[in-house]
Amino acid sequence: MNKPMPAIFFGHGNPLNALLRNQYTEAWSNIGNSLPRPKAVLCVSAHWYLPGTAVTAMVQPRTIHDFGGFPVELYEVQYPAPGSPELAHRVQSLLAPVAVELDEESWGLDHGTWSVLCHVFPNADIPVVQLSIDETQPPEFHYELGKRLAPLRDEGVLIVGSGNLVHNLHTYAWGRHNVEPFDWAVRFEKLAVELLLKGNHAPLVDYESLGRDALLSAPTPDHYLPLLYVIGSRRPGDEVSFPVEGFDGGSISMLSVQLG
Ligand code: ZN
Repeated sequence: MNKPMPAIFFGHGNPLNALLRNQYTEAWSNIGNSLPRPKAVLCVSAHWYLPGTAVTAMVQPRTIHDFGGFPVELYEVQYPAPGSPELAHRVQSLLAPVAVELDEESWGLDHGTWSVLCHVFPNADIPVVQLSIDETQPPEFHYELGKRLAPLRDEGVLIVGSGNLVHNLHTYAWGRHNVEPFDWAVRFEKLAVELLLKGNHAPLVDYESLGRDALLSAPTPDHYLPLLYVIGSRRPGDEVSFPVEGFDGGSISMLSVQLG
């Protein structure tokens, strides 16, 4: 049997990365160049966070500009990757009995997905399907869904989570990219890296019990939970690596986590 396709959590950070060339976007393109070509991408983005689990099932998902106050060029970015109704149906059956709505028209590809994928797969020729995050469910639920999605990796599908391990916008220094990161942010990232390297997922799933550093690093669950889908999809023999590291504005971790 072929090696499973990797699963990758990307720290996406500022949407402007879509237009920039910097250490993060260079690393994202290097990841794209290093991967075997996936049959399709299943992306869990922090920005599709609502009550319920849904999957994009349209043939051609639109590019969604789900932010405000950015330069006009960012609203002009299009990421015209095709969808895959076939993969959407496969996700629906893998996640049963959890009810998964096949979304034909409400969503598409949001910036959590395209601001990263436009660097990883710039030709936009690999089908992309998004899976929503059910905001009413506890972390264990999301980890469990990751486990159920794991067989996709044996079928050539790249599982992607797009969020940020540390994402605190209250303390974020807008426009100041090279400020020293907060000590609580560094400590939480270091702890997470140690746990990931040991394959000790339970504390990462129960991250809300990890104390003050965790609460400051993930004050809302949306940017953290995509990580649980990625690590939930662990396959035997997976190596863990961190192809992108760094902090933006003191309190956004740009860490990427790759399994396999
Ligand atoms: Zn975001």
